[in-house]
Amino acid sequence: MSDLDQGPLLDVAIIGAGFSGLGMAIKLLEEGKRSFKIFEKADDVGGTWRENTYPGCACDIPSHLYSFSYAQNPNWSRLYPSQPEIWEYLQDVREKFGVGPFIDYGKELKTAHWNEEGKYWTLGFGDGSSAKARVLVSATGPLHYPMIPDIKGLDSFKGAQFHSATWDHDYDLTDKRVAVIGTGASAIQIIPSIVDKVKKLDVFQRTPPWIMPRPDRAIRSWEKWLFKHLPFTQTLFRTGIYWLHESRAYAFIRRPSILKLMQKVAKRHIHRHIKDPALREAVTPDYVMGCKRVLISDDYYPALAREKTDVLRTGIDHVSENAIHDSNGGVHEVDAIVFSTGFRVANIEDQPEMVGRGGKTLTQAWSKGAEAYLGLSVPGFPNFFIMTGPNTGLGHNSVVFMVETMVHYIMDALKKMDREGVQALDIRQDVNNAFNDEVQKDLQRTVWESGCKSWYQTEDGRNTTLWPGFTVSYWWQTRSLKRKNYDAV
Ligand code: NAP
Repeated sequence: MSDLDQGPLLDVAIIGAGFSGLGMAIKLLEEGKRSFKIFEKADDVGGTWRENTYPGCACDIPSHLYSFSYAQNPNWSRLYPSQPEIWEYLQDVREKFGVGPFIDYGKELKTAHWNEEGKYWTLGFGDGSSAKARVLVSATGPLHYPMIPDIKGLDSFKGAQFHSATWDHDYDLTDKRVAVIGTGASAIQIIPSIVDKVKKLDVFQRTPPWIMPRPDRAIRSWEKWLFKHLPFTQTLFRTGIYWLHESRAYAFIRRPSILKLMQKVAKRHIHRHIKDPALREAVTPDYVMGCKRVLISDDYYPALAREKTDVLRTGIDHVSENAIHDSNGGVHEVDAIVFSTGFRVANIEDQPEMVGRGGKTLTQAWSKGAEAYLGLSVPGFPNFFIMTGPNTGLGHNSVVFMVETMVHYIMDALKKMDREGVQALDIRQDVNNAFNDEVQKDLQRTVWESGCKSWYQTEDGRNTTLWPGFTVSYWWQTRSLKRKNYDAV
């Protein structure tokens, strides 16, 4: 027995205290379970909403839907929630449901080994401590490891440089010449938030995103009053928003041609805010809307149209001590570089060392790309559940809905194991293969396969990220764990 095998055996270990981890803990508590812990690498809850603190950080799913169905908040200040408000919401949820005492902070999972004899997971953390649990729930989310491009000469740059997810709040951008690299979901929020204060803004755009108007506004006090005193009004409002978003899936997964019509709205949006024909042309995408994530903003185009802003499409050749050199030989002197270049999503090397049955590692299991049954279960890794795992991401609706259905499924697994006296469940390889073949087949007709390159895909073009259907169909498939699909270990 190794040192790691010491200590009490938990029923459930949850890794991460964001939406998924908290949601899982709340349902365990509701069922009267106390033998569990959330292991969180940081010193607070919130996950991505604790980590991303860049100026303008907000969610593009409306507040009243981007929250737990059983913990609705009548006090959202706006239709679209900002990062501080979502983070505060998650802190409130922790308090309201008494999850706090079950969280161990400062615990970054480094290793997880399946103990074949004892039928439990042995976990090793960055601080040298360890734990044992019968069931392991990974609730770490996919957008975690900042991606900084490998640009020649970056090390020689003497100014400030940081990633959107690790914003340097000590560095004052006032009157500085700033380069923002990337024009994705984070960049379109950062750029309008910093344009007023900087002296000069160089936006390095590789591919322009499709951007629709953002119908945001403050929630009126009488609306808050209604939501607080007549909670069914908020439920109705939330349900309306859900179905409005759900209906959009039809275009993404069945009829991408509908999205071509929506492109007209987006083009009008460009024309309204940008007068310069060259800039209009520069920011107009040449791929079908929806292939990359559709963004929403009312202040991004006006920020690009400012005199102090340059949109550069030439690509970056190298960086020197004080400048970015573009591939046309142009030299752009800057004081700071902000990388809004996204995350390493499908990078197996970033993951903790996971060793399942027969010594098989997750790296080996996923050598051709990440996949799991319902995004939740991986063959050879018994009693291991991944929340927001492979092919469960969305381009059209709230991921919190998906999180709730995943929690329901894992709770069902726990109940079925208890009822049958089964110690562990392992998804059958053939069931997993059939499911993932179907997912990949369904993805073929979606807009995400219409020819662009996106972070939804691996290097060889396999989409390991998105759910190719309605969220209702995911809910339907996860409403109950089908025992025959799993082997009892
Ligand atoms: P992103 O949307 O993937 O955007 C990354 C940007 O960096 C893209 O414009 C990309 O260009 C560019 N880029 C990447 N590598 C580059 C390189 N080597 N040289 C030049 N440009 C490069 O990343 P993100 O903005 O961090 O957002 C990631 C995800 O986080 C989003 O898709 C979304 O799911 C989530 N998010 C959500 C919200 C929200 O409101 N809910 C807000 C922020 C983020 P290409 O397009 O050419 O690759």
